[in-house]
Amino acid sequence: MIHKAGTLVANPTKTRIKPGQAFIAVAGLVVVLAIAFLAWSVRSEIEELSSASSDNVQWSLSQSEVEFQEFSSRIRVGADLAGVRRRFDIFYSRIGTVSTAQVFEELREDPEFSATLNKIQTWLDTTVPYIDASDVELTGNMPRLAGLVQDIRPEVRKLSNSGLGIFARNADRQRSDVARTLTELALALAALIAALGLSVLHLVRLNKRLLRKESEQRQTATRMNTVLNTSLDGVIVSDDAGQILEFSPAAEEIFGYRAQDVIGHELGAIIVPDHMRAGHDAGMERMRKGGEKRVVGKGRVQLEAKRADGSIFPVELAIQSAVTPQGDIFIAFLRDITQQKADEAELVDARDKAIAGEKSRSEFLATMSHEIRTPLNGLLGNLSLLRDTPVSTKQDTYMRNMETSGRLLLSHVSDVLDITRYDSGKVSAKLEPVNISDLLQDIIDSQSGMASTQETTLDWGWNGPAQHWITSDSDRLQHVLMNLVGNAVKFTKRGRVSVTVGWENDQITFEIEDTGAGIPEDLQDRIFDDFVTGNAAYDREVGGSGLGLSIAKRFVHVLGGEIDVASVMGEGSTFRVTLPATKAQATPQNDRDNNSNVATAPQRVLIVEDNEINRFVVREMLQADGHHVSEAHDGQQGVDMAAAEKFDLILMDISMPVLDGRSATRRIRESNGASAHARIIALTANAMAAEREDFLAHGMNDVLTKPLRKSDLRMAMGEESQPAPKDFSDLVDHAHMRETLEVVGPEKFHKLLARYGGEVEQMIAWLHSDARLDRVEIAQQAHKIAGSAAMFGATSFRAKLLSLEEAAKAGEDAQVRAAIATLPDLWKRSKKALSEIALTE
Ligand code: ADP
Repeated sequence: MIHKAGTLVANPTKTRIKPGQAFIAVAGLVVVLAIAFLAWSVRSEIEELSSASSDNVQWSLSQSEVEFQEFSSRIRVGADLAGVRRRFDIFYSRIGTVSTAQVFEELREDPEFSATLNKIQTWLDTTVPYIDASDVELTGNMPRLAGLVQDIRPEVRKLSNSGLGIFARNADRQRSDVARTLTELALALAALIAALGLSVLHLVRLNKRLLRKESEQRQTATRMNTVLNTSLDGVIVSDDAGQILEFSPAAEEIFGYRAQDVIGHELGAIIVPDHMRAGHDAGMERMRKGGEKRVVGKGRVQLEAKRADGSIFPVELAIQSAVTPQGDIFIAFLRDITQQKADEAELVDARDKAIAGEKSRSEFLATMSHEIRTPLNGLLGNLSLLRDTPVSTKQDTYMRNMETSGRLLLSHVSDVLDITRYDSGKVSAKLEPVNISDLLQDIIDSQSGMASTQETTLDWGWNGPAQHWITSDSDRLQHVLMNLVGNAVKFTKRGRVSVTVGWENDQITFEIEDTGAGIPEDLQDRIFDDFVTGNAAYDREVGGSGLGLSIAKRFVHVLGGEIDVASVMGEGSTFRVTLPATKAQATPQNDRDNNSNVATAPQRVLIVEDNEINRFVVREMLQADGHHVSEAHDGQQGVDMAAAEKFDLILMDISMPVLDGRSATRRIRESNGASAHARIIALTANAMAAEREDFLAHGMNDVLTKPLRKSDLRMAMGEESQPAPKDFSDLVDHAHMRETLEVVGPEKFHKLLARYGGEVEQMIAWLHSDARLDRVEIAQQAHKIAGSAAMFGATSFRAKLLSLEEAAKAGEDAQVRAAIATLPDLWKRSKKALSEIALTE
C-alpha cells in the first residue's frame, strides 16, 4: 500500500493571482469605500437638516423686528425716557449679535443681507448720540428720533424677511444635496451588486476548474500507485533530509520492512549498511548544501544494502530527484542482484576453470611434444650417422624409411607444438627481409620430386612485375606455402600445379592452383579447422593428421593476412594467401648469392649437454668433420671446463640439471676463464623468436634447433653453407643413383655424368639461343634428356624436362618459356648434387 502517493505528483507552480481577479477585487473595494463615504455624507446632511440652529436664527431675526417695534412704539413726546433707552439697548444688542455671532456667519455672506445689516448698523451709530444725550436733549429730539425710526423701519423688516428667504433657499439646497447623495448611493450599491454578481460567476468557474483538477490529480495518483505497486524494482522516495516518504511493495519485499514502519524514518538508518553510513551521510549533507550529486541522475550503480534482518546484499540502484512544493525529493529504484552476482561469480569461476583446464592441456601437450622430440632427435641423429657408415643398398633403404617415418613423426609433433604455442598466444611474427623468389624456388624444388612421381607439372611465376625482397616472417611463410604446394602436389595426379605470386600496394598474394581432385563443398567450410581431412579414398591413402591447413591458417593470421580456398570437384582447387608486405632492401646475409663459403680449420669444441644420446650424435657429427670434441654433462661442469681450457666453440644445451644453459653462458662470459670469449651456440628444441632474443641477451652468439642437422651445424660453425648429401633428396633420388653407380662403377659414372652434362648444357644453350624454336623439337629434346636424367636419379631436373615436354606438346608457350628459364639453375644444382653424392659414396 502506498501512503500519500499523491505527494509524488510534483506541483512546482505556485497559486498566482490573475489580473482579472485583481481588477475585480480592487473595483469591489472601491465600490465598498464609495458606499461607506456616501452613507456617511447622507447621514451628516440629514443631521444638518435636522439641526435646530436655523429655527434659532430665524427666531432671532424676527425678534429683532419685534424689539424694533418695541423701541419705536415708545418714541413719542413725553415718553418714558428710561424705557426708550432700555428698548434701544435691546435692539442695539440684538443687531450686534446678528453682526458678530457665528450662527449668522452664513447669512452675513449674502450680499443683500450684509448691505441691509450695514445700513441698520450705520443707523444705530447715528442714533446712539441722541439716545445717550441728556434727558432734555433726548426729549427735545424725540420728533427727530421718530423721523429716524420711520426711515429705518423698512430696512429692519427687510432684514427680518431676508433671513427667512435665505433659510428657505438653504433648506432647498440641502434637500437636493441629500437627494443627489442618495442617488449616488443607489448607483454605488448597484455597482457593488454587479461586482458581487461577477465575483460569484468567477468563483463558480474557479470551483469547476478546481474540481476538474482534483479529479485529474486523483487519476494521476491512482496511475502512479498502480505503477509503484506493480513495479518489480523497489521504489523508495525520501525528502532532502533523508526521511522516507514512500516505500513500495517491492521495496517491502526486498528489505523485509513494512511501509508503515519505515515511513518518516531516516533512510540511511534503515537500508544503508553500517560500513557505508559515513559515506551516505556525507553524500546527503553534500546534496543538502547544493553540492555535487554523485549518484543522483547518474544511471544504474551497484552498491550494498541492508535488510531488516541485518543481512547485507548487493543492489543495483538508480536515483532521480524532483522538485515539489514541499521541497526536493529523491526517488530510488532498487533491484536485488544477489542472484545475478552469484551467477556472474559462477560464470567467472567456470571460465577460470576452463582456462586453467585449457592451459594445463596446452602445457601437457607442449611438454609431451617437447619430451617426444628429444628421443626422436636422438634416433634421427643416430640414423644420420649410421647412413654415413658403409651400408648395403637394402640397409640404406630401410634406414631411409626409418628416417622418413621419424621425420614425419617429428613433423606431427612440431605441428602439435605449433598449435599449442599459437593457442596460448606465444607465437609472434619475426619480420625480416625475405627473398620471395628464392623462397618459392626452394619450395618448388623440394616438391618437384614428388610432382614428377605424380607425373604432375609444377611451376611458379610472378603476376606483374617481380618484387623479390619483401618484409615478412620467412619461416612462417615458408611453412604455409610448403604446406599448400605440398597438398596441391599430393592431391594432383597427372595434372598441373602452378604458383602465382603478385605484389601490389604493400600486399603480396600467392595463388596455389592445381588441377587435382578438388575439395567437396561441405569440406571447404571446415578445411582450415583442426584435424579435418577429406574422406576420399586417396585421402586415406596419403594419410595426414588434418593439421596442416589449420596451422597454415594460424600462421597466416600471425602475419596479419587471410587465407581462403575455391574448388570445383574434379577440376581442381585454388588456395589464395594474402599478406601485408612492404618492400625490403636486399640483405647480404639473406642473399644466398652473396653467401661466401667459409671453410674452417679443425676447431676445439665443447659440448655441454646432459642427454647422452644427443651428446653422442653431435660428437660424431663434429668428429666426422675433423673437429676436437670435449664433453660436459651439465652446466656447472661446462663452466669449469670453459674456465680451464680455451675452446673455439661451445655448444650449450638449455635445460640441464645443476646449472641451466643460460646461467652457464653468463658465468662463462663473466669469468676471466680461458674460454670467456669463445663462440657459444645454444642447442634448443624451442626456437621461438622471443627465446632466441633471450638467448642472445644471455651472451650466446647463435641458436641451433634440435634435431640437429649436419648442415645447420656446419653453417653455424662458419663452414661451407652446403647441404649434406642427404639434403639433396629434393633434387636426386639416392637409391636410383646408387643403383646406377653400383652397376657402372664410380669411374664410369663420372664419365657418363660428364658426357651427360655436356649434352644438357648443349641443349640449354640451344634453348636459350635466338634460333626459332620448334615446339615438336623442344618436346623431343626434353624427352631425350629427361630419359638420361632418370638414369642418374636427377628427379627434379627430370620432372622439369617432362613438364617442358608436355607444355611444348600442348602448345602452352608461356609455360615452355618458364620451364626453359628455370632449367640452367636447376641443372647446375642437380649436377653439383650428383657429383658430391658420387664422391662420398
Ligand atoms: P594434412 O596436414 O593432413 O595434410 P591439411 O589440413 O593440409 O591436412 O588438409 C586437410 C584436407 O584438405 C586433406 O585431407 C584433403 O582432403 C584436403 N585438401 C587440402 N588441400 C587440397 C588440395 N589442393 N586438393 C584437394 N584436397 C585438398
